[in-house]
Amino acid sequence: MEKLANFIDGKYVAPIKGQYIDNFEPATGKVYSLIPNSDEEDVQMAVNAAEKAFPIWSKMSTEERSAILVRLSEGIAARMDEFVQAESKDNGKPVSLAAHVDIPRAVSNFHFFATAITHFSSESHYMDGIGVNFTLRKPLGIVGCISPWNLPLYLFSWKIAPALAAGNCVIAKPSEITPYTAYLLGKVAKEAGMPDGVLNILHGLGGSVGDAIVKHPKIKAISFTGGTKTGEYIARTAAPMFKKLSLELGGKNPNIIFADCNFEEMLSTTLRSSFANQGQICLCGSRIFIERPIYEKFKEAFVNKVAATVVSYPSDPQAKLGAVVSEPHMEKILSYIELAKKEGGTILTGGVKEQLEGDYEKGYFLRPTVIEGLAFDCRTNQEEIFGPVVTLTPFDTEEEVLAMANSTQYGLSATIWTENLTRAHRMADEIQAGIVWVNCWLVRDLRTPFGGVKASGVGREGGLEALRFFTEPKNVLIKYY
Ligand code: NDP
Repeated sequence: MEKLANFIDGKYVAPIKGQYIDNFEPATGKVYSLIPNSDEEDVQMAVNAAEKAFPIWSKMSTEERSAILVRLSEGIAARMDEFVQAESKDNGKPVSLAAHVDIPRAVSNFHFFATAITHFSSESHYMDGIGVNFTLRKPLGIVGCISPWNLPLYLFSWKIAPALAAGNCVIAKPSEITPYTAYLLGKVAKEAGMPDGVLNILHGLGGSVGDAIVKHPKIKAISFTGGTKTGEYIARTAAPMFKKLSLELGGKNPNIIFADCNFEEMLSTTLRSSFANQGQICLCGSRIFIERPIYEKFKEAFVNKVAATVVSYPSDPQAKLGAVVSEPHMEKILSYIELAKKEGGTILTGGVKEQLEGDYEKGYFLRPTVIEGLAFDCRTNQEEIFGPVVTLTPFDTEEEVLAMANSTQYGLSATIWTENLTRAHRMADEIQAGIVWVNCWLVRDLRTPFGGVKASGVGREGGLEALRFFTEPKNVLIKYY
């Protein structure tokens, strides 16, 4: 069976203790590779390599660093099919999704930050009669990047690219559930001419290698995307060491549909915003609020489409949904469906596993599920399920829907469907979220700030925000009067 390796100091190396973890293929439920079960000794080895590399990388001209990152981006694009197949196999998502979303976006992430850094400028503040302040932006040193399993290379590169572009050395850990494309990345970085030790990729469990990254005193910042509970633990551990923290956490996003919306466009986008990637996107709109005059019309049209959605093995070109990422995650989603029933919900469609045959009979496939009749403040409507499950709730007024939308501990994103311009502005202003889409969903401009409020996180990724996070400002005042 294939054994993956850590990528440290420009080389693939086995974990020091020689221990491995099983890597499952979600579509078959079978183990198909082994990944290093790394720990603090492997982290130390990576820190040693990164310390050696930092003076080289941080002093390299911006143009040279940029050129290496452009080549890295092109290197992934040149191996598009290898990355697409690997991502789909490792995560369970349809091949078509990995081909259209995940891997192209990883290519764009590297390309975007490779070029963004060449436009990054700092501020100066003139003082009458005194002189001028200017603010230098220096890389932090060694930084840790920890990412989740839902959009593996997409979110991994979203952190690594700005960290590297800003001149930092990186110690990165993908989710142990989806390690494969991060594993492939080491080879591409090497071929792109990245100096040894600049990018180190470690595999293993959050509680051991992830924790060792968070606790290492020489790692100056942690950029983390994952669950709110893990984020809370990381904040508690890293804050006393005065590390910089960027935390992108969970969501329970409202999708608010007014009766005056463009119905057909809303309907097809709502199918995607509910179930893309098996509902395992932190931005999915899992709570759908519908203005009462179109509630029944929406319900009928939506449920018909959801019931007709093809759930199949990832390489099936007909598949709109693939497998969810793991057996424990599938069980968690099913337990929430049971909870919804206990809380008085009615399952309008789905609520069960999709049983495939042959090689896929033990895969983790679920029917997309629509539930109605739940109170807005019940657990099903307050807790993150992170699967193909949405709830429908009618509303009568803007005030009412705002109160329901803002009632959770989360505040990542929100979607609003209306043709009424002033209402769209009013709602966008009042909604508690870091990202608001009006009449669209998941349309991303990489220059914009990305992140959530409340328990959805701290700090912002994207564009200049990410470059600012990965640099330390140093103000210099030159007095010349
Ligand atoms: P987890 O929080 O379980 O894990 C995220 C990463 O952190 C994994 O690499 C994990 O490793 C690691 N980890 C776990 N425990 C620790 C620890 N003690 N110290 C350091 N690292 C640790 O999240 P999931 O992987 O389950 O991802 C799903 C979550 O991510 C959802 O809540 C989702 O909303 C959120 N998310 C947020 C996004 C955003 O931008 N706000 C975007 C995408 C997802 P391991 O896999 O070994 O446990």
